Amino acid sequence: MSIGFKVGPPQNTASVIVTSQTEHRIKSGQLWIYRSDVTEVDADAGDIVQLIGVRGDTLGYGLFSDRSSIAVRLLTRDRHPPDATWWKEKLISALRYRETLEIDANAFRLVHGEGDLLPSLVVDRYGDVLVLQALSQGIERHTELIREILVQLVRPTAILAKNDPQVRTLEGLPRSVNLLYGKLPSKIIVSAGAVQMAVDLLEGEKTGLYLDQRENYIAAAQYAQGRALDCFSYSGGFALHLANRCHQVLAVDISKDAVAAISQNASLNKLTNIQPQEANVFDLLRNLERTQARFDMVILDPPAFAKNRASLSKALAGYKEINLRALKLLSPGGILMTCSCSHYVNEAVFNELVIASADDARVQVVLVEKRIQSRDHPVLVSVPETSYLKCLVLRRLH
Ligand code: SAH
Repeated sequence: MSIGFKVGPPQNTASVIVTSQTEHRIKSGQLWIYRSDVTEVDADAGDIVQLIGVRGDTLGYGLFSDRSSIAVRLLTRDRHPPDATWWKEKLISALRYRETLEIDANAFRLVHGEGDLLPSLVVDRYGDVLVLQALSQGIERHTELIREILVQLVRPTAILAKNDPQVRTLEGLPRSVNLLYGKLPSKIIVSAGAVQMAVDLLEGEKTGLYLDQRENYIAAAQYAQGRALDCFSYSGGFALHLANRCHQVLAVDISKDAVAAISQNASLNKLTNIQPQEANVFDLLRNLERTQARFDMVILDPPAFAKNRASLSKALAGYKEINLRALKLLSPGGILMTCSCSHYVNEAVFNELVIASADDARVQVVLVEKRIQSRDHPVLVSVPETSYLKCLVLRRLH
């Protein structure tokens, strides 16, 4: 397949030699090669490097970083370096996978880094606009090529590089937002099922929306009834999906901008039963408990309380507190959908925490569903870090 542009001079001179243990890990599907896994380096920042085993054989090619603790992100176990055709085929394969999902929304993730074997590249679709994140030196170097291929394959009206995540600093890369292609429309409104959402691509969190929760919104709506409480609502993703089935949804966020976005989205959907509230969820839950408020459904979708291992025990106390209080607020038969997006709180720890919360709240709960991130954010099982979102649906019995 010829696609009519060059990747620049051949880069197959850069190389690293890895330890024999790493050789096994690469063969068993690992994509991350740490600095301590590498014995010799002949490469510059962002190069595509040849991975060489202890006996001198080629193990594949990856993206080299001279700053991150992840020295190389494996791209391929082929014996020749990825060329423009390789990149195009990988992107086509990511796009085809999304087509098979029959997503009833026009905002979803097209490329989920490692989960699409394109480590450290994120591409989200918001209608006709694409938002890209280059999260390593190597992807940064290939942005131009990726942009050209995306233009060919998707024909977007614009491509925005939302390169402001904190992780870029670990790569020594600047945090910036810039337009790579086309012209951004002044307003972006996307649809998810029957729900419309306004998206602020430039100022919003992540690439604009928490697209990883899209399928959990749909699941939550199936249980919705009566009076609901959406905690950590951001622009109201859960609240909007619940509102058609509930009398009232209280949607709470600590950010003024988020609360304004919830109001805007409620109006956009002509929903009058969403009550946006600017508050700290910790205080709000305490106050609601004091007034003996009751809800038929509570959503807990907090930010990652544990940003690293050191903050884990404090984070766990935070998760426990909100889960405990949310369970107390539920009417018998009520549903709690509780999430954690913190990589450091693994599934087993999260399950235990929820059990302990129910115990302390002196309520009996049944586990109704165990959910994860939406399918357009695929988990690569050999890289456990790609599975980060935990979502439990619990029903309070009494
Ligand atoms: N549920 C949202 C995503 C939540 S992201 C969605 O589906 O779109 C986490 C949100 O929690 C952010 O909007 C942030 O402003 C908010 N937040 C963080 N700490 C908070 C606190 N203590 N109380 C209330 N909101 C908080």
